[in-house]
Amino acid sequence: MKLLITGGAGYIGSHTCVVLLEAGHDIAILDDLSNSSREAVRRVEELAGKAVAFHQVDLLDEQAVRNVMAIEQPDGVIHFAGRKAVGESVEQPLLYYRNNVTGTLNLLQAMQDYNVRTLVFSSSATVYGEPDTFPITEDAPLNPANPYGRTKLMIERICIDLVAADPSWRVSLLRYFNPVGAHLSGRIGEAPDGPPNNLLPFIAQVAVGRREELSVFGDDWPTPDGTGVRDYIHVMDLADGHAAALNFLADNTGLHIHSLGTGRGYSVLEVIAAFESASGRRIAYRIASRRAGDIPTSWADPGKARRELGWQATRNLDAMCADAWRWQLQNPQGYPKDTSG
Ligand code: NAD
Ligand code: UDP
Repeated sequence: MKLLITGGAGYIGSHTCVVLLEAGHDIAILDDLSNSSREAVRRVEELAGKAVAFHQVDLLDEQAVRNVMAIEQPDGVIHFAGRKAVGESVEQPLLYYRNNVTGTLNLLQAMQDYNVRTLVFSSSATVYGEPDTFPITEDAPLNPANPYGRTKLMIERICIDLVAADPSWRVSLLRYFNPVGAHLSGRIGEAPDGPPNNLLPFIAQVAVGRREELSVFGDDWPTPDGTGVRDYIHVMDLADGHAAALNFLADNTGLHIHSLGTGRGYSVLEVIAAFESASGRRIAYRIASRRAGDIPTSWADPGKARRELGWQATRNLDAMCADAWRWQLQNPQGYPKDTSG
């Protein structure tokens, strides 16, 4: 298939591009590089041994998005592009609604006008908010606790309405749990700009000596060791999940929702211990107060994805930490700064 990948220079997008190229797809990337580097695309090409068309375009530029659709004429789109920092979304909600929702509307309009009817969308487990039963199934109530999560829910609803109006669309909404890790080569990985918001990249930067200590946000949660429990999923398993979703859409019209997680939760202290053994480094940490908006526990029921997509995660926490560590060690400052554009 010929695929257009929005946000393909980003963390999850770059790993997915490698998997899709290796599966024989042709890809073009649309990314404004607002949270990523052109170098990531070069490394994707290097890993897959295949060239990738790259368009530095902002989804808010409606005409430019249409131009890309006209040039590439893809069979389908995987839509990763969006802003994803929860705290920033609380401070700048309009920025988030505009970028994520309006950007997606521009993309969907261009798809409709150019007769592209296959879409895989990056949703998030944040749409579930704070559920009271575990594991979390796809039919759990949706109640996101912040503007970022609400942009994801709005986009899901837009897609539902679109498919209701025209059932020839093929749409896959993938609700990711906590993506971590990196490609086995250590050539691509997560390269946050500034202090990481997420646990794994923060731990990795402490291990490599870029940061002094980790703050553990609360040890008084109602969990076995008092620290937050999450369903961490290896980014390469997540990438495989996109390939599986595309295969599924080839045989199924309509809209389909799947959670992508492992079905296992780990606490912050368990992740620290696993990273210490993967890296051979001690992770200095202190217990800090709870982070606003956090929930105690989250883990997926991966059964629907297994049954319908024939997909399940295969990489364990040790592999997630080992691969994140290899990437961090080989690229302590992330990707080199772009000079060539
Ligand atoms: P990322 O920031 O690394 O990648 C997103 C990419 O989109 C970046 O390359 C950025 O430059 C690009 N982008 C942002 N706004 C754009 C715009 N207006 N026009 C063009 N490009 C734009 O993030 P990621 O971790 O790879 O996440 C990918 C997707 O998955 C996002 O939609 C995110 O919300 C979702 N998601 C991520 C996580 C996670 O923990 N990483 C969890 C659940 C869902
Ligand atoms: N966490 C932490 N210190 C950090 C970052 C995260 O203790 O510097 C905890 C956080 O409270 C949560 C878990 O690690 O229990 C995962 O947090 P992350 O931000 O990675 O993912 P999310 O909260 O989005 O699930």
